[in-house]
Amino acid sequence: MSIDREFDRQHIWHPYTSLSKPLPVYPVVSAKGCELMLEDGRTLVDGTSSWWAAIHGYNHPELNQALITQSQKMSHVMFGGITHQPAVDLAKLLLQMAPQGLTKVFFADSGSISVEVAIKMALQYWLGLDRPEKSRLLTIQKGYHGDTFAAMSVCDPVDGMHSMFQDQIIPQLFAPAPQSRFDGDFLATDEHALTALFAEHHQHLAAFILEPILQGAGGMRFYHPEYLKLARRLCDQYQVLLIADEIATGFGRTGKLFACQHAGISPDIICLGKALTGGYLTLAATLCNDTVADGIAMGAVPALMHGPTYMANPLACAVALKSLQLVQHNQWQAQVKAIEQQLKLELEPCRGSPYVADVRVLGAIGVVEMKQNVDVAAMQKTFVELGVWIRPFGKLLYLMPPYIISSIQLSKLTSALCLLSHQAQAKDIEALPGA
Ligand SMILES: *Cc1c(COP(=O)(O)O)cnc(C)c1O
Repeated sequence: MSIDREFDRQHIWHPYTSLSKPLPVYPVVSAKGCELMLEDGRTLVDGTSSWWAAIHGYNHPELNQALITQSQKMSHVMFGGITHQPAVDLAKLLLQMAPQGLTKVFFADSGSISVEVAIKMALQYWLGLDRPEKSRLLTIQKGYHGDTFAAMSVCDPVDGMHSMFQDQIIPQLFAPAPQSRFDGDFLATDEHALTALFAEHHQHLAAFILEPILQGAGGMRFYHPEYLKLARRLCDQYQVLLIADEIATGFGRTGKLFACQHAGISPDIICLGKALTGGYLTLAATLCNDTVADGIAMGAVPALMHGPTYMANPLACAVALKSLQLVQHNQWQAQVKAIEQQLKLELEPCRGSPYVADVRVLGAIGVVEMKQNVDVAAMQKTFVELGVWIRPFGKLLYLMPPYIISSIQLSKLTSALCLLSHQAQAKDIEALPGA
């Protein structure tokens, strides 16, 4: 029996998609390695890792086995008053891998929730220190931190659609998006803008939250490690907590295990998700240092006030543990380096297109920024005809393949992307751009 696409079209929402004018969806029946199989038997080379997650590829025998083994013991049990081996093992390994100084783990059920928890930690920390006036967040424009309300409040105010939810979104403080490119000079203008904001507002700032090095869904921008070092210095100087949202960048994607390591800094709080389970199940984690944990413990309510039903789900923890062990034992560094070199070489010809504004590569991430928004549905259709799964959004065509991709598969992705970057017909999007 075939997948009922008509039912899907009429009754099921897809991410950032209109129900009345939905973008087309493609029925996928299975996936293996770096390929998705469509219902009609065609296979597509995956250029997305299903949004940063499937770093080891799909249908991985060891990840499958971890799930099977755990499901035969217990798929879920409440985490209130109970603990279990998968949670303990995963937390141990996470703390061992994470940037220095992080000592406590909160298991959340999605990236957005891990951001909510990070914000809550920061607010409760200042309550614990009897500084309730330190309750605002500083962030940078062009950021993306998730779709729940507190997370939305620190997303880019324009792209994050703040005007739409004006009365519900807490106003936060925004620094300009850093203009210093990752591989360029560090600009004094970036330094001055950030320094001035700290100097003026620190008395009311609970935390500075940002995506280290790579601003992902907010525009796929790579910025200078000096900016991150400056952020750490200013946070120390002005007593503001630093929250690193590494949900997209964590576990090797940018060429370092964590993007913070490009600048050699540790945050006070870090959010991890996406690749955490190797793309198998939804699980995220918020880690903090002793300072934050001790501050929270000093509060009138000394407990961290959060506890989702599926907290530390054993299946998700078991598969995450195996995924991190694969990260540890596999050749991710060599793989990401090889992907980076190949992306640099093979995306270079896109610069020759009159429709292309910029080409940039960092780690296993390749971005071609067009001058205008692209017609997602038309472009997606052509990509599928070319045998690749690439999901454009706005002006951006981007690749972030599984680390295990072969050079032949990667060439298939880059040649399709180059071809379309030359043909792209700009189109003003009437509806939402789609995610
Ligand atoms: C995807 C993402 C989130 C949100 O994670 P979800 O699991 O989709 O809720 C938050 N921050 C960053 C940087 C992300 O890339």
